[in-house]
Amino acid sequence: MAADIVDVAIVGAGPAGLAAAIEARQSGLSVTLLDEQAATGGQIYRAVDAASALKRSVLGEDYAAGAQLTRQFADSGARHIAGAAVWNVGRDLTVNYLCGGANQSLQARHIILASGAMERPFPISGWTLPGVMGAGAAQILYKTAGALPSEPVVLAGCGPLLYLLASQYLQAGVKLKAVIHTTQRRDYVRASAHLAGAIRGWRDLRKGMRMFSQLSKQRVPVYAGAEALSIQGTHHAEAICFTHKGQSHRIESSLILLHQGVVPNTQLSWSLRARHRWDNAQLCWAPETDEYGQIEKTGIYIAGDSRGIVGAKASASQGRLAAIAIAGALDRLAPGDRDRRERAVRSELDNQVLVRPFLDALYRPPAAHRMPADDSVIVCRCEEVTAGQIRKYAELGCQGPNQTKAFGRCGMGPCQGRLCGLTVTELLAQVRGLPPDEIGYYRIRAPIKPITIGELAAD
Ligand SMILES: Cc1cc2nc3c(=O)[nH]c(=O)nc-3n(C[C@H](O)[C@H](O)[C@H](O)COP(=O)(O)OP(=O)(O)OC[C@H]3O[C@@H](n4cnc5c(N)ncnc54)[C@H](O)[C@@H]3O)c2cc1C
Repeated sequence: MAADIVDVAIVGAGPAGLAAAIEARQSGLSVTLLDEQAATGGQIYRAVDAASALKRSVLGEDYAAGAQLTRQFADSGARHIAGAAVWNVGRDLTVNYLCGGANQSLQARHIILASGAMERPFPISGWTLPGVMGAGAAQILYKTAGALPSEPVVLAGCGPLLYLLASQYLQAGVKLKAVIHTTQRRDYVRASAHLAGAIRGWRDLRKGMRMFSQLSKQRVPVYAGAEALSIQGTHHAEAICFTHKGQSHRIESSLILLHQGVVPNTQLSWSLRARHRWDNAQLCWAPETDEYGQIEKTGIYIAGDSRGIVGAKASASQGRLAAIAIAGALDRLAPGDRDRRERAVRSELDNQVLVRPFLDALYRPPAAHRMPADDSVIVCRCEEVTAGQIRKYAELGCQGPNQTKAFGRCGMGPCQGRLCGLTVTELLAQVRGLPPDEIGYYRIRAPIKPITIGELAAD
């Protein structure tokens, strides 16, 4: 029924989705935004509207600033469907979602996928033990529930989010037993080639420097350039082991937070059979789109970190660009207005991504923490498939990730390969001596979120 067709359906209420919705509403488009979370904000601004003054001050001004975006969205006249897990998006511009236990769908003229990023897997020995979790996951616990570690904690890995959490924990009074970071001299050398761009984006650099100086002021032991991380424990994490300056170390802790960057959440774009390319700078898959984020003239756009990691501000700009393109396509923006708005957003976006090549080079996660040499390390957590098993499948003739499903159910658990997909691609590429582009990825199909037969049948 025509009355049920919305101009733009947006999946994801992070900076990209919110900014897209606000921009689309300014052109008078009808907008429905769906997100599986209870409130708007996405990862960075998660639960910002409900956050106390104390929490906002602990999480910092970048977090608190999100309240302005969520307020603008609330005032925009867009419809927000909270708690909606989108399990299918079709090329016929249908969106299927599960909300409150009921399976529902909507039809749109255009769709913007703004499903964001997720933490990169960190497959090392012991990473599946209780007491080990992602730094991003620990941050979610604080943002949503105010939960903080009660005992001294170890943070290990690399990437801005690791240092951000360290600084937020210090602000909240959490004791840090150690920060172990894996950035090596070779990473600094590689990153120096992109210093010019980074200096032009100096604000981000300054923030990073402040976090480091905070660690040293509070006398947190920092092990820079650590290698060969592994976690020991029988039923629970007991210690983290690593080498530093040629010496072996073992630090006891029952809570170890790992992090080595974030990667695009591409389940929806893969399920749409969009072409993806292996991004060698970010070591992940990125969907191929036109300059507005559109997949092959489908009317389906991708904005924000799910298109390639760009950070919160650039994600918002990409969301706005997609909305401007859609308003233009629906003749809701005069060509002159469209060009003017597009030029303004593009110039912001160009500045926002200046620092990215520097960050990608500096925080490139080491191969040993992406493709574990230890055959006993679990790669697919849902089905408990190890690195050794994946190597064996390759020796037996397994060509790509999709076949690992037939060999040993790898990637067939509840997360549908979200957590193991990158590791499986890289491990197979390593064994077969081929680039990841030739190895490919899982063939992702709907439902991309768990839905029961009963819920489907009730529709
Ligand atoms: C755990 C984590 C914590 C982070 N914390 C910070 C931080 O503190 N500071 C910072 O600068 N950057 C942080 N980042 C990076 C930050 O997420 C991004 O730069 C920025 O938020 C990207 O914005 P986005 O709009 O593209 O996606 P996001 O903000 O990630 O928003 C995506 C939204 O899509 C929703 N979604 C995804 N799939 C579906 C689906 N199938 N159905 C329904 N909804 C769906 C998610 O619930 C989410 O709300 C974090 C990243 C992660 C993974």
